[in-house]
Amino acid sequence: MRADTNKLKGEGMNQYKGKSVYGGIAIGRIHLMEKNKQRIMRNKIEDTAAEIRRFDAARAEAKRQLAKLYNSAAAEVGEANAAIFEIHQLLLDDEDYVGSVKNIIREQGVNAEYAVGVTEDNFCEMFSSMDDAYMKERAADMKDISEHVIKILSDTDADFATPDEPVIILADDLAPSETARLDKNLVLSFVTVHGSVNSHTAILARMMGIPAVIGTEIALSPELEGKIAVVDGFEGSVYINPDNETLTRMRKRHDDAQKEQRLVQKLKGKENVTKDGKKILVYANIGNIRELDDVLENDAGGVGLFRSEFVYLERKTCPTEEEQFQIYKKAAETMAGKRVIIRTIDIGADKQAGYFGLEKEANPAMGLRAIRICLKRPEIFKAQLRAIYRASKYGNVAVMYPMITSLEEIRKIKAVSAEVKAELDKENIPYNNVEEGIMIETPAAAMISDILAKEVDFFSIGTNDLSQYTMAVDRQNPQLDEFFNPHHEAVLRMIEITCKNAHAADIWVGICGELGADLELTERFLRMGVDELSVPPSRVLPLRNRIRNLDLSRAVN
Ligand code: PEP
Ligand code: MG
Repeated sequence: MRADTNKLKGEGMNQYKGKSVYGGIAIGRIHLMEKNKQRIMRNKIEDTAAEIRRFDAARAEAKRQLAKLYNSAAAEVGEANAAIFEIHQLLLDDEDYVGSVKNIIREQGVNAEYAVGVTEDNFCEMFSSMDDAYMKERAADMKDISEHVIKILSDTDADFATPDEPVIILADDLAPSETARLDKNLVLSFVTVHGSVNSHTAILARMMGIPAVIGTEIALSPELEGKIAVVDGFEGSVYINPDNETLTRMRKRHDDAQKEQRLVQKLKGKENVTKDGKKILVYANIGNIRELDDVLENDAGGVGLFRSEFVYLERKTCPTEEEQFQIYKKAAETMAGKRVIIRTIDIGADKQAGYFGLEKEANPAMGLRAIRICLKRPEIFKAQLRAIYRASKYGNVAVMYPMITSLEEIRKIKAVSAEVKAELDKENIPYNNVEEGIMIETPAAAMISDILAKEVDFFSIGTNDLSQYTMAVDRQNPQLDEFFNPHHEAVLRMIEITCKNAHAADIWVGICGELGADLELTERFLRMGVDELSVPPSRVLPLRNRIRNLDLSRAVN
């Protein structure tokens, strides 16, 4: 995901760029949501046992409210996406958290509000200072549950004033519970100054299907209240006081998007076939099994990329073979015979798990990541392969390896794979035949794809990394936007070469990077002979729509 944070100013109209969380256009008035930061007093308490009971009662009430919130969110956005409210209930029982609050009340003889506030600060500081991006985000969860308990303890209702007409919510950041408490009918869009695209709030916004842009760097001020704004969730742009030309353009885009939305819903159950009869596989990308609901809901033909590293990133320690097996088995069973392509871990670069103990590198994107870690740490690699092979018994499982650059790597992978299978045979553990593919995401792999194609069952082109390595543009660096051309001819030619070489060796080839969902390129990809496109679940039906409107028998202009 590219981070765009430039702010561009025009006459009267202000345009801000941020990160898009969900596509769509919203036009309406801004409603500022500013938190009434609760002022917490430090009071001396004589009866600390009674104060601890008061804290426990508030905790119980918070859990009760969260359970209620879980039920309504589950009904609205599905159980998987409402899971955050279950996690918050569990956090309210966390021994370290509860122990800390009680200890402060007991040792310092202070009120519960103060003890919760201090614990919140300590935990947030601890989580924020961790290297692991996932753990950093847990600071927001700690803040959310603590503020919730404090609100109950002090009996204040710090909720935001509810708007009485549909508005564009503009806030510094939103906690998941705040996002879920908003009446969906009154919210046209979310715009936040902070927040991360992988945060739970972002995920929830995406699931609620509301255009949302985060990280906009808008200076919040009371004058913004009531101003007309346009949120372009497709481009990650926000226009405040839009001029007439922008308003007209955006209204048209809004109407087109609405039409497309209605249209694509009718495409469930239909084939991905062009007017002239060319069929193509459309699969979905996932990072965890909670997203399988979306994969099925959007009628994807399979999972084209299961980014298994997220199974590792969600944990404080390395997941065991058994834990992984249960997850992959669940994916295979849920997809019920549809192909599930599990990519072995792509840890490293922007996806760091503290417990891997990787050294800091000057050039992490070109460093020890993905298959390189697996080949250097065979014990980690073997445990994952065992789990994948074991899960193959429960459905149609395929495996693919990221960041391949040479034939030697494939040979080494094959040796490890053979060792793992021999061990499973010896232990009488059954497994099915598993298709073995590689990602083509380095220029090296694309250029020798004729050689590599003879060694594997399929290719999946990772255009995100292929683009960054081809154009030498760091995909994480927002400063380089102007140098990043997603349609660069060099990348497209490499995709074409890869397709030709795959077919010459009689193997299939797909695209699982972001470019696969770029509808401007669908025709070109189909003409190149791409056999499969794997895209975020929400992009499956729009892509099907595009495919069904293409006619490849017509000459290209
Ligand atoms: C890619 O590089 O295009 C890809 C699909 O992998 P990731 O985005 O996880 O690096
Ligand atoms: Mg990649």
